[in-house]
Amino acid sequence: MENKIYGNEKLLSFFRNASGAGRLSHAYILEGGEGSGKKTLASFVARLINCKSLGERPCGVCESCRKISEGIDPDVKTVVAEKDKKQIGVDVMRDLRADVYISPNEEDCKVYIIPDAQNMNVQAQNVFLKTLEEPPANVYFLLLCSNIANMLPTVRSRAPSLKMQIFSESELRSHLLDIDPSLRSLDPSEFDMTVRLAGGRIGEALRLLGDSKKTSGETPRDKAESLVDLLIGKNDTASSLVFARKSVKGRDEGRDVLLYSIYALRDLVAAKKGGKGVTMLFYGDRQKAEALAENQTSARLVSVVSLFEEAYNGIQLNLNTDNLFTDLIVSVRKTAGI
Ligand SMILES: [Zn+2]
Repeated sequence: MENKIYGNEKLLSFFRNASGAGRLSHAYILEGGEGSGKKTLASFVARLINCKSLGERPCGVCESCRKISEGIDPDVKTVVAEKDKKQIGVDVMRDLRADVYISPNEEDCKVYIIPDAQNMNVQAQNVFLKTLEEPPANVYFLLLCSNIANMLPTVRSRAPSLKMQIFSESELRSHLLDIDPSLRSLDPSEFDMTVRLAGGRIGEALRLLGDSKKTSGETPRDKAESLVDLLIGKNDTASSLVFARKSVKGRDEGRDVLLYSIYALRDLVAAKKGGKGVTMLFYGDRQKAEALAENQTSARLVSVVSLFEEAYNGIQLNLNTDNLFTDLIVSVRKTAGI
């Protein structure tokens, strides 16, 4: 799956045309949520730039294409934060600035891929800007980011930005079944929910489906259910805090737990509003949602949903996961009187 690109035809033909006409810009920003295929596309562009074929490019079989696909080409470099740091600091960008002037080893061009460009702090972006202002002729930069608002306007003005395609649910479903036909044997309601949760992103869907293979009780979905039980069902702030600290491991899992919790909580709002026609997205057992919602007002449930949505946005911005859950749970307690 690593090299196959689903959809995104407009972006592919844009890059093919620009490259064929010798009009490639030295830098591009590829914007899209996690799991939307930015890295796969960046690898495609790096192959397009360095492919040795005289026919269709990238050919996928020449030495350059092969090495880039395997991630072992010395002239296609990935730029990340220093170890144990979340932000890409100024030192990383100074090193990069020095590195761009060193000639390529094997290829005609060097390509630098920055997978989490939104994590460059302001000083780092300013140093990078100097590199962008006078890039060596054979150097290209691909800045991948989940939210372009985090990039300085000065950087954006020198790097055209392109958005990754968001798939419809039916497109996503068919791409997923193409990648992994064994998904046909998955419980259809679970498959449907994953497709919805993935928000049109293939990588995100595959990650969520990978989670669902974990032992029961350990998946982010199970953890979300427990958290909502403690927080809303039992109204137990202390146990919720302990649960979040002990059970939610790291930012990625935190994000998934928040995402599933949002769906669970929206089900409670729907259950509260009643009407037999309302479909539950999270709770297979509608009565469970109704029981949880029973002693809550709609107003409170709606505020709790927004608090979770805020926390979900916060976790995307790399805020500390433990603090984020603590603040969230404390804020939820404050809504108890609504
Ligand atoms: Zn090639």
